[in-house]
Amino acid sequence: MKGKKGVAILGSTGSIGTQALEVIDTNPNDFDLQVITANKNADLLINQAIKFRPNNVVIVDESLYNKVQDALFQYDIHVYTGEESLLDVVCGEDIDIVLTAMVGCAGLKPTLSAIKAKKNIALANKETLVVAGEIITKEARNNGVNIYPVDSEHSAIFQCIVGEFHNKIEKIYLTASGGPFRGFNKDDLSRVTTEQALKHPNWEMGQKITIDSATLMNKGLEVIEAKWLFNLRPEQIEVIVHPQSIIHSIVQFEDGSMKAQLGLPDMKLPIQYALTYPNRIKSNFERFNFIDYPKLTFERPDEKTFNNLKLAFDVLKTGGTSACTLNAANEVAVDAFLKKRISFLDISKINSQTLEKVEIIKNPSLEDYIMIDKESRKVAEELI
Ligand code: NAD
Ligand code: MG
Repeated sequence: MKGKKGVAILGSTGSIGTQALEVIDTNPNDFDLQVITANKNADLLINQAIKFRPNNVVIVDESLYNKVQDALFQYDIHVYTGEESLLDVVCGEDIDIVLTAMVGCAGLKPTLSAIKAKKNIALANKETLVVAGEIITKEARNNGVNIYPVDSEHSAIFQCIVGEFHNKIEKIYLTASGGPFRGFNKDDLSRVTTEQALKHPNWEMGQKITIDSATLMNKGLEVIEAKWLFNLRPEQIEVIVHPQSIIHSIVQFEDGSMKAQLGLPDMKLPIQYALTYPNRIKSNFERFNFIDYPKLTFERPDEKTFNNLKLAFDVLKTGGTSACTLNAANEVAVDAFLKKRISFLDISKINSQTLEKVEIIKNPSLEDYIMIDKESRKVAEELI
């Protein structure tokens, strides 16, 4: 049996990517890093390549290719550029698992390419499943590929069902921190700034997911992600606000028994588990202490104020390309909010108005998804 797992990381310079590299750095006998990629952060990518010596590196932004190529030439590391090269580098024969840690729908094609090359997927890039869950899960089944969740809630569910074989899930509870604006009403939200939205109480993450956490879109995307990962109906998924982020999610089985997975909020644990499954390897992550948290609390999410969560349940019921439209509108709106072109409450407004305007295609092909993604972005951009 091969000793080390060959790993490719799409988006190695991001929050998930850098934490994955920490896990690999701590466990050099378990992993063999084959590929790292980044969009624009050439300096960090170069440093990572010099430290970890992967075979292949991709800098997607073509204007930065020469810089990366010049820096890595003497190390015998192959450097590629452009979106299309992501589709090739994930297919390398020494790769066993591809960690998809890039952000947004841009992850769709590389993830499909990896699945077709029969690589297991450690999935952080939830937008890909939201947009085209039907195609991704079908291709994974057809190619005998496993998708291991990295998202902490989905990793929790996954950890709870390991060993349950044929026991059916009655329902799952996805926990949500509630984000920085928990308890705010619409009036309060009309005044919040980009800087406030970027301060998450429990997790340090990339900008897009941090804003999504503040609008509860992140939880909405996770509801859709859960449907595809665990094959659930909408009524089997409930969101519960748990501000301490200690219980990462809960599964309820048909006999009424519930299992939860707990720990301090640290993404390195779900990243590591996705990479080492079915094994657990010893870690020095800080341990949870009950006495430090004498109160774990739970509340209902406020879907009236945070409309994005309701929109996510709506598209889950509508099906077809509607989740693709919601995701595209949201990517455009979050980008505009980060650039201070729109207000916080505009994000969910643009999402819901885009959903009203864009047609829904039932039983879509990959080309339909790509077309609807483009069309939805155009409509959202016009609304801004
Ligand atoms: P990030 O913004 O910190 O990093 C994104 C990475 O992807 C960077 O390496 C960037 O260079 C690359 N990238 C961005 N756009 C790209 C493009 N168009 N083409 C190619 N590469 C591109 O993001 P993050 O917080 O690490 O999140 C990554 C994914 O993981 C997201 O889908 C997010 O929802 C999910 N996720 C993140 C966390 C977290 O704690 N950060 C938790 C759960 C899930
Ligand atoms: Mg999550």
